[in-house]
Amino acid sequence: MKSLDRREPDVFTGGEEDSGRLPDLVDPKRTVEVIRSHGFSFRKKYGQNFLIDSHVLDKIVRAADIRKDDLVLEIGPGIGTMTQRLAAEAGKVVAVEIDRDLIPILQETLAELDNVEIVNEDILKYDIGELARSANGGRPIKVVANLPYYITTPIIMGLLENHQPVDSITVMVQREVAMRMQAGPGSKDYGALSLAVQYYAEPYLAANVPPNCFLPRPQVGSAVIRLTRHAEPPVRVQDEKRMFALIRASFNQRRKTLVNGIGNSQELPFTKEETAKALERLGLSANVRGETLTLEQFARLSDELGA
Ligand code: SAM
Repeated sequence: MKSLDRREPDVFTGGEEDSGRLPDLVDPKRTVEVIRSHGFSFRKKYGQNFLIDSHVLDKIVRAADIRKDDLVLEIGPGIGTMTQRLAAEAGKVVAVEIDRDLIPILQETLAELDNVEIVNEDILKYDIGELARSANGGRPIKVVANLPYYITTPIIMGLLENHQPVDSITVMVQREVAMRMQAGPGSKDYGALSLAVQYYAEPYLAANVPPNCFLPRPQVGSAVIRLTRHAEPPVRVQDEKRMFALIRASFNQRRKTLVNGIGNSQELPFTKEETAKALERLGLSANVRGETLTLEQFARLSDELGA
C-alpha cells in the first residue's frame, strides 16, 4: 500500500491528481485513505455508511438552505465529509458523534475549520435546547444529517415532539421511511409516522439515493428529505396526546376498521359504540379504516371523543 500521508498528491487519480489539489473527503479513495490511516473499522451497530458521492452531498446542502448566520447541528459526522461542506455555508456547525474512534479523525479532517465544534455524545442524550440558548441566542437551529438508520424515527420524532428549537431537519434516511413521512391518505405508505411528521412539519423529498453512494453500501435505497417545521400545527386539537393515541391505535391493526382498532387499544378508554357514534357525528361511516382519514379528521374525532 502507498504512503497515506495526506499531502502526497500521487496517491490520488484523475483530475485531482493532475491539478495537485487534495480531493475532498467525499472522494471514495480519500475516504478509504483516511479510515485506513487511523486503523478505523466500520461499526454496523452505529449505522455507519459514509457518503462518497459529491452530487448527493451537494443536494443535501442545497436542500438544507443554509445561511451564513445559521447554527447547524450535524448528527453523526463520521469522518467529517459533510461537516466540511456545512462549515463552508453556515455560521457555525456543531457535530455530535457517538463513536469515540471517529473523534481523532474528525479532529484531523476539520482541524482548519474554526467554526466547527465536535462533540462526542449520543444524540439521544444531547440537549438541543441548551445548544440553541447558549450558542444561537435562543434562535432555532437547522439539523442536517446522513442519519444512522437504526435510530431514524426516535431522532426525528424526538426533535419534533419535544418542541426543540429547530427550524428544519434535512436528512438522509431509508427511502421507505422518507416515503412514509410524506405519504397522504389512501397511499400504502400512509401511517402513524406520516401523520406525526406532518403535524409538526412540511416534508419535501429532495433526492433519491442509491446504495452505491455510500461506503460500505447499505442494503436499502435511501432518500434525502427536508422537514420544515410549521410555525403553527396545520390543525387545531384539544388534546395532542389523545389524537396521537387514536392514530397509533388505528394503524396498529391496519387491516381492521378504525372502530375495532380503537376498541382493542389498551391505551384508550373508548368502546366500539362510542367510536362509531363519534364517527357518525362527523359524517363518517363506522366501517372506515384509519388509512383513509386525514389529519384534520383525526383531530375532529379526537375532540369529539373527548367532548
Ligand atoms: N455523516 C457521515 C457521512 O455522511 O459520511 C456519516 C453518516 S453515517 C450514516 C451515521 C453516523 O452517525 C456515523 O458516524 C455513526 O457513528 C453516527 N452515530 C450513530 N449513532 C449515533 C448517535 N446515537 N449519536 C450520534 N451519532 C451517532
